[in-house]
Amino acid sequence: MSCDNSAINGMNPGMAGFIVAKKRVMELNDSMQQGIVYLLGAGPGDPGLMTVRGRELVEAAEVLVYDALSSAELLNWAPAACERIFVGKRASRHALPQEEINALLVKLGRAGKKVVRLKGGDPYVFGRGGEEADALHEAGVPFEVIPGITSAIAGPAYAGIPVTHRKYCTQFTVFTGHEDVNKKESSLDLKGIAGAQGTKIMLMGMQKLADVCEALTGYGQEPSTPAAAIQWATTGIQRTVTGTVRTLPAKVQKAGLGAPAVVVIGDVVKERDSLAWFEKLPLFGKRIVVTRTRAQAGELSVRLRRLGAEVLEMPTIRMAPPSNKREFAEGVVHAHTYDWLVFSSPNGVERFFQAFFAVYQDIRSIGGARIAAIGPGTEAKLREYGLAVDIMPKKFVAEGLVKAFKDAREEIGTIEHSTFLWVRGEEARRVIYDGLTALGAIVDECIAYRTEAETEDVAGAQAAFRERGADIVTFTSSSTAENFFKLGLPWPDGCKAASIGPVTTATLKELGRAPSITAKTHDINGLVEAIVKAAGK
Ligand code: SAH
Repeated sequence: MSCDNSAINGMNPGMAGFIVAKKRVMELNDSMQQGIVYLLGAGPGDPGLMTVRGRELVEAAEVLVYDALSSAELLNWAPAACERIFVGKRASRHALPQEEINALLVKLGRAGKKVVRLKGGDPYVFGRGGEEADALHEAGVPFEVIPGITSAIAGPAYAGIPVTHRKYCTQFTVFTGHEDVNKKESSLDLKGIAGAQGTKIMLMGMQKLADVCEALTGYGQEPSTPAAAIQWATTGIQRTVTGTVRTLPAKVQKAGLGAPAVVVIGDVVKERDSLAWFEKLPLFGKRIVVTRTRAQAGELSVRLRRLGAEVLEMPTIRMAPPSNKREFAEGVVHAHTYDWLVFSSPNGVERFFQAFFAVYQDIRSIGGARIAAIGPGTEAKLREYGLAVDIMPKKFVAEGLVKAFKDAREEIGTIEHSTFLWVRGEEARRVIYDGLTALGAIVDECIAYRTEAETEDVAGAQAAFRERGADIVTFTSSSTAENFFKLGLPWPDGCKAASIGPVTTATLKELGRAPSITAKTHDINGLVEAIVKAAGK
């Protein structure tokens, strides 16, 4: 028997044979592990409009099969190891034919994978999700369907148009404008649609808009019926054109509106005058770049998007373990022996406690040390672990923290000869060490992480930035600034840099890009506030 497994070498042959056989059975079980395909509605574009179940599945996906979605950001939710397969249309190539997509899903499911098939809006509303489900059913591959919010309803809602309203109608019809109106065998019943009462909603109809409107009026649709087209609905680049069934096609053409767009026909369109909420948000129409790590981007992006901005998540840095892991571990293990623990970033808190709980089971093992945090973000992270902060500066920078210790001498007593463990990133400035040492403290450093350049651009943000530029690029640390400019992307005309605080501002100036927006309080809240203020001007 030949066997290259070193753990088995040296055993008696009978035992080794048993182990090899067992391993084979396990492998066989693995290969028989049931795959499953989730036909998942990604919603119309705003990532906040995906279901809770949907997000859960994306976060656990082994393979993502997706096409040109309105929001590429959803891809960032998938685990790093997840395989991402694009099957849609791109400038340089055609979409994969539907039969090939079906076959791919069947193949992946049979290979035992947890596959998430992301589909815009709802998978069963003109998404060909029905065909994919049929193929999976026929092949005996398990599948589940997670409905999504369809653009047919969400698009009008974000444009201020309720698809039903007691004042106007008791029904609505959704139809596709994709079929050839003049084709004899067309299953599209425009006569029926024209005769139907209530709101009419057309998807995939931008190319044939004029033909469809003409046919509808030909079949008796009142030409003065209000109508609207909403492009890229629910995203920061949403555009809406209104008119009537007669005037809409020309107005759409003049405005240069194309796919993807939802067309709404009906008296409900009148409500837009009073109900258009989304397009009035303070950052609507602004394209803003977020350069933080993929893991941290969400906090800022969500805030900006909720204010109506189009957000490009372009992570320029990522967190990595510290160069000296052993020293870090020693700091963590001995943390309980210090008088003070000083945290100068939320990342430091997170890394520290990940390591801490790998060693200890109980938060009380942290001992009686008092705790200092550099700002509210760091404080909030500490709170997640049930820890309150004893000292925090007024100005959320290292200098502010040193000053806070100086100023608090009456309250906390002298810190001379007190022992400090400073939990920090590898690139942090020395201000805290120097400042506290000057006050007579004994400071040990606990380097919890290091930042390195992010080399991947899974959501295609860099390409989007090159093509379409941006109004604002946000910088939340010196390292985001340094690494952003290393990418060598062209700086768009009129684009502003927004800085979180004085240290980042200094770095930006060195890089030749002085920020025109600066946060007053040096945290995410302060940054968002400054951006809103600047946008209002
Ligand atoms: N299953 C999708 C529809 C797929 S067909 C859903 O439920 O929304 C594709 C069409 O959907 C596009 O041609 C367009 O008419 C519409 N659409 C999808 N996303 C859109 C968006 N963000 N804004 C406007 N229309 C959108």
